Amino acid sequence: MSTFFWLFILGIVCGYLGILIAERKGRRSMEGFLLGFFFDIIGLIVEFILPAEEMRTTLRGGTLLQLDRHNRQLRKCPYCAEMVLAQAKVCKHCGKDLPEYREETTFRQFTPKIIYGRSRLHSL
Ligand SMILES: [Zn+2]
Repeated sequence: MSTFFWLFILGIVCGYLGILIAERKGRRSMEGFLLGFFFDIIGLIVEFILPAEEMRTTLRGGTLLQLDRHNRQLRKCPYCAEMVLAQAKVCKHCGKDLPEYREETTFRQFTPKIIYGRSRLHSL
């Protein structure tokens, strides 16, 4: 009886530590909790070895975008330089208010219109 109680307590503690590790690596906290809760120390070691959530960069409309594994667009916080969701209004790392995100401005930077304008100028 008391063995089960202590195993449960150990599971809760390891689950909590799993959440901390998962959040630091940018993965889902539920994943971290379940690994820690059911596999205790082994779960935490696995959690530690697993790679951080990968981010991909992609070229769209001439602009380099950074995407997380759910294809959500990311941008860099100007205060702490951590990656946050592009639509975020408050940084999840440093808690500062982020400048408003305007999607059109990033896409209009390299639109063909500007290139046509330039080439027309040169032909004159
Ligand atoms: Zn920040």
